[in-house]
Amino acid sequence: MSFETLGLRAELLRAVSEKGYSAPTAIQKQAIPFILEGRDLMGGAQTGTGKTAGFTLPLLQRLSSKERSQKGRRPIRALILTPTRELAAQVAESVREYGEHLPLRSAVVFGGVSINPQKQKLIKGVDVLIATPGRLLDHVGQKTADLSNIEILVLDEADRMLDMGFIHDIRKVLALMPKQKQTLLFSATFSKEIKQLSSGLLNSPALVEVTTENTASDLISQVVHPVDKTRKRELLSFLIGSNNWKQVLVFNRTKHSANRLAKQLESGGISAAAIHGNKSQGARTKALADFKSGKVSVLVATDIAARGLDISQLPHVVNFDLPNLAEDYVHRIGRTGRAGHEGEAMSLVCIDEHKLLKDIEKLIKRNIPKIVIDDFEPDPSIKAEPINTSRGQQQRNAKPRRNL
Ligand code: AMP
Repeated sequence: MSFETLGLRAELLRAVSEKGYSAPTAIQKQAIPFILEGRDLMGGAQTGTGKTAGFTLPLLQRLSSKERSQKGRRPIRALILTPTRELAAQVAESVREYGEHLPLRSAVVFGGVSINPQKQKLIKGVDVLIATPGRLLDHVGQKTADLSNIEILVLDEADRMLDMGFIHDIRKVLALMPKQKQTLLFSATFSKEIKQLSSGLLNSPALVEVTTENTASDLISQVVHPVDKTRKRELLSFLIGSNNWKQVLVFNRTKHSANRLAKQLESGGISAAAIHGNKSQGARTKALADFKSGKVSVLVATDIAARGLDISQLPHVVNFDLPNLAEDYVHRIGRTGRAGHEGEAMSLVCIDEHKLLKDIEKLIKRNIPKIVIDDFEPDPSIKAEPINTSRGQQQRNAKPRRNL
């Protein structure tokens, strides 16, 4: 199947071919026809499946095939809500690229940066707005965003938005929009909360799903390297050096350990940057840009900061430690093996983490091969110590983070 047979207009086909895509991905094949028909949609897809183009292309087509109903300032006709600034910025970039040959305007608003340039842009009028919930409500409060003409609403990574405590903001946003509209909800998992949200929001939705819930892609090879906690950094440096890795994303459970690890790698001669919630938006954008351009070979990230990071064809992901929530493991390794490319996910696991590893293997319904690296054999005399797993719970119960 080709993009042409999906019924997309010439301007969009041109943009797609300029991006170098030869064929639609599974989610695109399934979702695009339903969205073009005007149906509501519930999409089960993670970042990396091509879901952004899956909703953006038909959204742009629908907006451009209908005349604007009003003269004067353009009303916002489509709203795309995302949980994080990074995802908002990436989706906005996709909307710009795919819409390059259409006379539609878009803007992105998120917290952590000055609100004034965003206001200027909104005042001029945009057709498509990409936003994180908190900042969007700030704009509504300041009368720079009016949602009463929304025709299409997209909730991207809806499960993450709920995990991050955005439900109240989302409900406030929904109340500002017309009842009659097309709604598209994307989520990697279909929890009870997601089902609850969607049942009140979607009207006989088409259901499309590309990955079975919580199973890791077959394109990702996974391995566990058992190692003592105190030797993880040394092992990581060894793996990077001996394999000559040029681009590796390393996950850390806490901001503090992400910072420390990036500094230690740097002082050992490996270029590294840390990305986490305590960094300013400018520092996060710079770290990501340096990583993408190859200036920095190691990006050390926490789970929240890494959500939605679009780094295509990332070859290696390393779990410096295992996440407290088994679902986060699936999200972490989903950063590699994207859109048809093979990837490798390694986990450095010490004795304290065996319980977390068991939970992960149960969730993904497979055993991950264990390979001990020579000279890094765990010391059998070391006994397991309990690890503090409270963060996962805190995150689930988190209050809305207005600054996202
Ligand atoms: P997403 O899941 O939307 O974050 O997309 C993941 C990656 O796949 C992005 O880097 C896209 O540029 C890329 N991508 C999207 N659609 C296609 C396609 N049809 N063929 C190849 N790559 C694609």
